Amino acid sequence: MAGDQSRLDAPKPETREVLCTHCDRSIDIPATAMSVNCRHCHRRVIIEDIRIKSYHAVMRLATAGLVEVTKRAQIVAQVRVNDLVVEGGVKGDVTAVGSISIGKKGWIQGDVNCRTLIVQPGAGLNGFYRVDPTFTPEPTTAEVEQEDEFL
Ligand SMILES: [Zn+2]
Repeated sequence: MAGDQSRLDAPKPETREVLCTHCDRSIDIPATAMSVNCRHCHRRVIIEDIRIKSYHAVMRLATAGLVEVTKRAQIVAQVRVNDLVVEGGVKGDVTAVGSISIGKKGWIQGDVNCRTLIVQPGAGLNGFYRVDPTFTPEPTTAEVEQEDEFL
């Protein structure tokens, strides 16, 4: 239970809570930060919003922010984001702690996990999907394998 001590706090520092994109544990970050080191797994967590405007192939694309794939752009990656907006294409499995929105010419080829899925008429989704408004990724307590780092 949250105690009552918050009442005594000075004006709130500008922080917000996100899930680490590596271990899925909760971290507080300064509102203006672009990346932080996770205090649990000590890995760098990217927070900034990323706009993909061309072909982009990586092992893993992870941010605790928004990824937008613009028209004619394509990502080939395992994607882990807070929110995803797809006007182009995504090939790979997608986990979004928040929402995934696929525009009318957008498509995803891969399995999808998210809280909210918005699919415009004309959009493509080829894969299994799980949409659960309470979806929260399982925190990883094991060592996270060293597989990604890209951006
Ligand atoms: Zn972590």
